[in-house]
Amino acid sequence: MRVPLYLQPRLEPPLSSLLADAPFLHSLADALGSPLNLLLPDRIAENADRFRGVYRAHRLSGRVYFAHKANRSGSLVRRLAAADAATGIDVASLGELRHALASGLTPDRIMATGPKDPEFLWLAARTGATVNLDSPTELGQLADLIRKYTLPRTDVLLRLSAFETATGPGVSGVRALSRPSRFGSPLRETGAVLDAVERHRDAVRLTGVAYHLDTTGLAEKAAALEQCVAVMDECRARGLDPRVIDIGGGFGVGYVAEAGQWERYTTELANAVLGTRPALTWRGHGYGLRNEGGTLRGSLALYPAHRPTAGPGYLGELLSHPAPASGRPLATLLLEHLYDLVCEPGRALADQCGLSLARVTDVRPTGHDSGDLLVRLGMNAGDMSLEEHGVLVDPILLSRPPAVDPMERAGDDGPVGVYLAGNLCLEADLITRRKVFLPRRPRPGDLLAFANTAGYAMDFRAHRAQRQPAARTVAVTRDGASWRWCPDEDYWPITGTGGPTS
Ligand SMILES: *Cc1c(COP(=O)(O)O)cnc(C)c1O
Repeated sequence: MRVPLYLQPRLEPPLSSLLADAPFLHSLADALGSPLNLLLPDRIAENADRFRGVYRAHRLSGRVYFAHKANRSGSLVRRLAAADAATGIDVASLGELRHALASGLTPDRIMATGPKDPEFLWLAARTGATVNLDSPTELGQLADLIRKYTLPRTDVLLRLSAFETATGPGVSGVRALSRPSRFGSPLRETGAVLDAVERHRDAVRLTGVAYHLDTTGLAEKAAALEQCVAVMDECRARGLDPRVIDIGGGFGVGYVAEAGQWERYTTELANAVLGTRPALTWRGHGYGLRNEGGTLRGSLALYPAHRPTAGPGYLGELLSHPAPASGRPLATLLLEHLYDLVCEPGRALADQCGLSLARVTDVRPTGHDSGDLLVRLGMNAGDMSLEEHGVLVDPILLSRPPAVDPMERAGDDGPVGVYLAGNLCLEADLITRRKVFLPRRPRPGDLLAFANTAGYAMDFRAHRAQRQPAARTVAVTRDGASWRWCPDEDYWPITGTGGPTS
């Protein structure tokens, strides 16, 4: 086989030490089945603290809200409830709001975002959560509910979209709109929306403006933030008193540890699509690239799995970034106006907070003469959806202990290329559509551990097709030199329930 093209995961404690304990992981999977999700709730509190550290470094106040939609488990949310009061939660459904309240988050720490049905709006207003308004229509619905059911006056943020951005360096004067979004009110309609806020003043109190741009582009976010400052000024001129600018999520995660591996892999993927090297994907899948008569077309539809800066580091970069119009650093702009900063990271707060385990159930040749193997797992593509989210990163092979007789293993030595298939009776059920390089041939009974799946990849797309078992989820905490675990739903952030030990 050619040189293996690894995409080794970025691992930090405690995830790295958990993955080093193969006997513990095997005993959990033996007891609880495959697939199995493990969460490390202490790490999410640490991540929130790192975001708050960036605020402190820029002398900014305000809250960090976890975008609940990234993970539906109980332990991460309960652990955040026990964290600093400057940590909150962003809920995007009635179910998430009920879960946050039941987990101990007080309404002052809860923000309701996304499109909302009347029950969701009612419970948010009834309890005193902040409502991040998706549209003027939603504002009208909320105000009507508040009057009809004599609910308390409710804090609202205005979500804006369609900001203006320069189209590129050196093209001053040429303006384009930020990426289209189904959510928020277009910036050009701000005047009409503020008129509505004034009309509904008896029912709602405008506390700030918000955006969420699903991009990693700094320039686009810097432009949006500066334009939010301008809208805040307009609000003040109207006698409103907003204090908060909510810059949403999208801070990103670095999944692959080494830049070199990522660059090599994507270069070779392009070569494989062009046919100048053996295939790297199942049945010629190109991840957005295609070969048109020897020319590479399309663009790579993948998450940038290696990120030089992500999460809190990315927030720091954004705050130091010059505002496109005034040229001043964005943090300075916020400080001068005494505006609070709010952000809503989902993926980045769930970074390093969990992993998904799958049992190897079958290993056979692909039958393509390549020496590649087809490895079937006790999980399907819905149980572990990194691939579905465009994230390419290698799983870790955990051989079944005790180690097999070395003589028997002799033929297994050396790296292999494998395609990972799921447990559904469906051609399309592939855990990855690319060839994954493993350091040795896996055997039935081994485990594959997919690291860093807590953000969107462990439960967002899980289903019960074919009555295959849904993954159980457990919370794991460090207990001296060993680990303690409990079912996710039984975790509380107190000693004796899988929570802190001292
Ligand atoms: C999804 C979402 C987030 C979180 O996005 P990430 O990319 O996971 O950080 C934050 N705010 C809103 C409004 C969202 O819809």
